Amino acid sequence: MEKLWRKNYLNIEPYTAGEQPKTDDIIKLNANENPYPPSYEVYKTIAEFEANDMRKYPLSDSAPLRAAIAEHCSNLYGARLTPDNIFVGNGSDDVLAAAFRAFFNSDKPVMFPDITYSFYPVWCELMKIPFVTVPVDDKFMINPEDYAPENGGVVIANPNAPTSIGMGLDSIRRILDLNQDCIVIVDEAYVDFGGESAVKLLSEYENLLVTQTFSKSRSMAGMRIAMAYGSTELISMLNAVKDSYNSYPLDRLAIATGIASVGDEEYLEAITSMIIATREKTAAALRKLGFDVPQSSTNFLFVQHKTLTAKRIFEYTREKGIYIRYWDKPRINNRLRITIGTNIEMSKLIAALEELIAAECK
Ligand SMILES: *Cc1c(COP(=O)(O)O)cnc(C)c1O
Repeated sequence: MEKLWRKNYLNIEPYTAGEQPKTDDIIKLNANENPYPPSYEVYKTIAEFEANDMRKYPLSDSAPLRAAIAEHCSNLYGARLTPDNIFVGNGSDDVLAAAFRAFFNSDKPVMFPDITYSFYPVWCELMKIPFVTVPVDDKFMINPEDYAPENGGVVIANPNAPTSIGMGLDSIRRILDLNQDCIVIVDEAYVDFGGESAVKLLSEYENLLVTQTFSKSRSMAGMRIAMAYGSTELISMLNAVKDSYNSYPLDRLAIATGIASVGDEEYLEAITSMIIATREKTAAALRKLGFDVPQSSTNFLFVQHKTLTAKRIFEYTREKGIYIRYWDKPRINNRLRITIGTNIEMSKLIAALEELIAAECK
């Protein structure tokens, strides 16, 4: 007999992350991870960490980390931020999920681009938030004017993923001006690779929430730390949501290593500059091989070859032990997303592509 409780299962399609290989001899360019280690300050903090402290719960408000982030960001962006303008969570996936819950409670649909971070529709489905997607143009550009219709909120990744394209603050400002009656979330997971941060606009827009993460530029994807910046009002709403389902998202080690990483601005600058240099070199090499490569403001490239299909390239490089990202989805199923690794890793990728092109593009 059909069990009635099966009718009450949650019926959702979850987000699929880039594959994590089981062996080490893989060149992994499929999850936008940083090829360089975290700051040496993080190593020292782990070495000195007092394991006995794990007996105790962490600080539920992560106050010292929020203070460190507020100070760092005030310097970096010339903004005046206090710890009460900062919310921290267990990666931006946690921070964004809390923000969707806190701010997207309208009957009107939330808006975001059709080609963007594929977690946004997943959270909407999970939380039963109505949404509409807005097509980017055929160059994958977001047009701010498209966000004029009445809506229940807007979420924009800037720079966008997987397109790698960044928008200027004038465009973000336009979206904010068109949407003064709802919350606009700007997801800045990649901003440290050449994007322009909307944190600078916080003093002008009380309905703006900006999120950033330690996962990409700070080489700490495995530690799960991210933050949101906003007015004290928005931040207190996020805390209310957090305290309604998990009061301790950041553990003691995350708080300690997060502070260590934030304190080492020089290192962040050094590794992001290296990645940007490698990105530009790789983009030039790919263009020479017949790839279309939009100008990237991130640590990845979103490419299409003039003759070979994305699927063929994906399968070939995978056989060679190089993992890149391919989606069998409308509009992007002939594109590949390639994370920028070290110079050596990128040279190996280019060599593999040269071989494939020599063999199959006569
Ligand atoms: C990677 C990524 C995130 C999530 O990062 P976390 O590891 O959860 O901090 C959020 N948004 C975009 C656009 C991303 O690419």
